[in-house]
Amino acid sequence: MIPYGRQDISSADIESVVEILKSDFLTQGPVVPLFEKAVSQYVQASFAIAANSSTSCLHIACMALGLGKGDILWTSPNSFVASSNAALYCGAEVDFIDIDPNTYNLSIDCLEEKLIQAQKSGRLPKIVMPVHFAGQSCEMKYIFNLSKKYGFKIIEDASHAIGASYMDKKVGCCEYSDITIFSFHPVKIITTGEGGIAVTNNPLLAEKMILHRSHGITNKQDFMFARPEDEIWNYQQINIGYNYRMTEIQAALGLSQMSRLDEFVERRHNIAKKYDNSLAECSIILPMQHSDVYSSYHLYPIRVRKSKAGKTQRMVYDFLIASGIMVNLHYIPIYLQPYYEAKGFKRGYCKEAELYFKETISLPIYSSLSDEQQDYVIKTILELIK
Ligand SMILES: *Cc1c(COP(=O)(O)O)cnc(C)c1O
Repeated sequence: MIPYGRQDISSADIESVVEILKSDFLTQGPVVPLFEKAVSQYVQASFAIAANSSTSCLHIACMALGLGKGDILWTSPNSFVASSNAALYCGAEVDFIDIDPNTYNLSIDCLEEKLIQAQKSGRLPKIVMPVHFAGQSCEMKYIFNLSKKYGFKIIEDASHAIGASYMDKKVGCCEYSDITIFSFHPVKIITTGEGGIAVTNNPLLAEKMILHRSHGITNKQDFMFARPEDEIWNYQQINIGYNYRMTEIQAALGLSQMSRLDEFVERRHNIAKKYDNSLAECSIILPMQHSDVYSSYHLYPIRVRKSKAGKTQRMVYDFLIASGIMVNLHYIPIYLQPYYEAKGFKRGYCKEAELYFKETISLPIYSSLSDEQQDYVIKTILELIK
């Protein structure tokens, strides 16, 4: 059985985790800050805040930017539900921008058009959350320019995109955003089991996210309120927060994985290149790369159009699964999920995203995929589609 994505764990990774299990701290020790430093240095951002998932990071990022009741967050429908759920956790509303038919990222033209309309109706978003689908960065410079014109904040959901670049800078440098979020779920580029990290260059946003990550509690004297001298106030809760902390066990794994990040992304590029070449003559649509980006290739989505391939998406999907290739579909447009449909979203809302949903299949791509396994995937596809 070949999955669409999986972790790549070395003996050094295992050793680093075992070391933590023998140490004094399983949580709230020295390794989480070391991991945060490794990521912030890698992406060239000033601050990094690690948490128990990327979903948690999206939530505390929205909180730090003051998202609340009466506000709206816009994101891509071609994403995992966590992107938009984060806004709902804050009591805000969400809306969706249709995707670009080539990159499958949110369309800059649709965004601009929607902003013009929203300005007229007085319903501009407080936050726009571009999602770097499959590891390919959105056109951040354009989104940033629009944010200056229309006054919204930007959170990059880069859950797919650690190790990727945009205009020769690492995704996460936050040149064109307020906060960037990465995920370390095992199917992503590097893993901590469960885990995520938020990076920013803004010290105030960093402080807020640190508070929201851990109950709204601080032990920094500067932030504490005056209390009688004879009482022991070694910490204070000064805001509301959650327990979203990452453990030392997770951070040790993440720190060890960071040393192989570039190697992982390079391997993913080689796998993608082989698919590009081997499937070039096959009548399916292969993923296109924007010239400004270097993808982390979290996903390799192909499109199966009946009129072109002679087979439906469903037929190819079922055939691959039956052949032991556990392909997946990224993504069902978020607003078609029953929970979102109940909020009033209707079919036909984002036409490109829906067309894409009915044609796409994510082929296996991960650093530990062997050449033999990939050959088998290619052979199986070519067997079905000429
Ligand atoms: C995986 C993923 C998330 C959630 O990440 P977790 O670490 O599992 O919480 C959010 N957004 C996108 C686009 C993702 O792919």
